[in-house]
Amino acid sequence: MSDIQNTRIVLKSRPVGMPQAENFDIQSVAMESPGDNEMLLRTLWLSLDPYMRGRMSDRESYAKPLQIGEVITGGVVCEVIETNLDDYPVGTIVSGMYGWQSHAIARPGDYRLFKVDEGLAPISTAVGVTGMPGQTAYFGLLKLGKPKAGETVVVSAASGAVGSVVGQIAKIKGCRAVGLAGGKAKCDYVINELGFDACIDYKQADFAEKLVAACPNGVDVYFENVGGAVLDAVVPLLNTGARVPICGFISAYNATSDDQIQTPEMVLSALEHPPEHRFFIVIEWIEEFETASQALGDWIKNGQLKYRETVVEGLENAPMAFQMLFTGENFGKLMIKVS
Ligand code: NDP
Repeated sequence: MSDIQNTRIVLKSRPVGMPQAENFDIQSVAMESPGDNEMLLRTLWLSLDPYMRGRMSDRESYAKPLQIGEVITGGVVCEVIETNLDDYPVGTIVSGMYGWQSHAIARPGDYRLFKVDEGLAPISTAVGVTGMPGQTAYFGLLKLGKPKAGETVVVSAASGAVGSVVGQIAKIKGCRAVGLAGGKAKCDYVINELGFDACIDYKQADFAEKLVAACPNGVDVYFENVGGAVLDAVVPLLNTGARVPICGFISAYNATSDDQIQTPEMVLSALEHPPEHRFFIVIEWIEEFETASQALGDWIKNGQLKYRETVVEGLENAPMAFQMLFTGENFGKLMIKVS
């Protein structure tokens, strides 16, 4: 055992609807010392992502649910503070999947353990714009959306971690980028800071008419992040040959019964002329992650890719901060500054 106490947040009960503080348990346990071929990590940044809601439920999904008492899954950026590995000296910055905790023991070969390239961008971005959300936008849009110059790309949750990158890559590829977001502040940011051609507030009554006006040539690519009523408004505008990468459908993640869930897959497959569409998971392209991070980092350096982070201080605030993803209170990539 080392002298270090690990603060960790475990699943106490499965949330029904919006996750609440009572669904989580904050524990303090003595940390082991790293053994042969191991290192001890201190968490600096914890990423909060919508997919974690799925892990808290026992609904059937592409990933195994968390068990009660397990540390909540999560991507982190960490510093090596003790090591028995020549390749990972003390001070090395890594990213990995060590979850909602202040410390972790890691070994080479751990799932999604990467050394962070500190020259690329600030290290927090290793779980943001140059990390998983940025890679999701990069592969989902380029591999499945296949945007061509002059086409119209629409993306929902457009000010968020994934959506903001989708629209900016669409612009880099010479497309018309139309964002969908909640509220004037987010729409203004998407147009004025991120350089989209238009952004429509889906919470306004005239959303559908404004969307039609923003897409005079129809929609060639719809990058789906939210599902529900937003998808219903986009569907009539899809051009023949349109592509719909289904990244997520956050509007249904807190549904309390399966009957309430109409997945984008269900909606699109039922159309008389379905667009090319499929659900994807970013890890399909894990072998190419570093290529994507490099491209994203280069775009940041040359000013073509901007990003915004919502930072909440303190691991113990993660359960309440997590709600922000579903209320829309986050503005850009949501993360916890752990230490
Ligand atoms: P964001 O940073 O975009 O945050 C979530 C945003 O979703 C909120 O800010 C809010 O924005 C919007 N939102 C929340 N509830 C609703 C609702 N009921 N209807 C419409 N919009 C809503 O999150 P991410 O960028 O991390 O994730 C975006 C999507 O990408 C999610 O569906 C997520 O599951 C998916 N994803 C999928 C991956 C994959 O491999 N397939 C990997 C990573 C993410 P607003 O204020 O504009 O409403």
